[in-house]
Amino acid sequence: MKYILGFLVIWLLAGCTLSPKPLGDEAKTNFVNGNIICAKQIDILQISINGAKPPKKAFDFSIKKLKKYTTNNVIIHKSINLTIEESKINKFIHNYGHSRGMDYLNDKNKGILKEALETLPKNDTSFIMIYTPKLSSLNNPNKRSRGIAFYNSYDYKVVAYNQTSISDAPVITDIQSWKIVLTHELGHHFGVPAQNTHNKAGHCTSRECIMYSKPDWQSVVSVIFKGMPYDFCKLCKEELQEAKNRCGAIAI
Ligand SMILES: [Zn+2]
Ligand SMILES: [Zn+2]
Repeated sequence: MKYILGFLVIWLLAGCTLSPKPLGDEAKTNFVNGNIICAKQIDILQISINGAKPPKKAFDFSIKKLKKYTTNNVIIHKSINLTIEESKINKFIHNYGHSRGMDYLNDKNKGILKEALETLPKNDTSFIMIYTPKLSSLNNPNKRSRGIAFYNSYDYKVVAYNQTSISDAPVITDIQSWKIVLTHELGHHFGVPAQNTHNKAGHCTSRECIMYSKPDWQSVVSVIFKGMPYDFCKLCKEELQEAKNRCGAIAI
């Protein structure tokens, strides 16, 4: 009964349509990453740390989105497993994500990773997806992260996903949560939201967008009425489509 009343109150407060989150003074502009959207080929290498990995269904879902918004040519490389001492995991990921090499890995792990990298093209359309049982901000170890898209990685695009935080998401299932986080981090590499009309500090103001920042009560209401935000909103989609339309113009 409590729940029904709760929903009714939320419904009355929210009405049927939800206005976007106000931009405040955090409006930002990004560029859609034409290199990825127009890539001849996108390569993916997955690294599982201590057995962490997403449900296959969720991974397949995010790859489908990746194909849909790019040129549909995605190569999935054979994934690798690394066993890393708990206290070194976070340091390894941050260090590696910022292109500072393989410190914090023992020789065996270094060998496994080096071998996998031999077939991975060194360019900005190769993604390394790291699945980890723990991930936090480097400056504040108490601040857990669900996922981090490293923008400054040099040879590859490195994205890390924290299995523990993703599986801890309230209300939704592991598969639902993984689908959202996997696709959300790819969206950061696509460069959406781009325009400052809906980009608030790097996230989308639309509550129905997979690039919305963090769940709040309004996004929960949105889920109740419109389902999970499994895709980009209309504005983000338009930006991705525009970038795709320009692909031909880049070729000489
Ligand atoms: Zn984000
Ligand atoms: Zn959006």
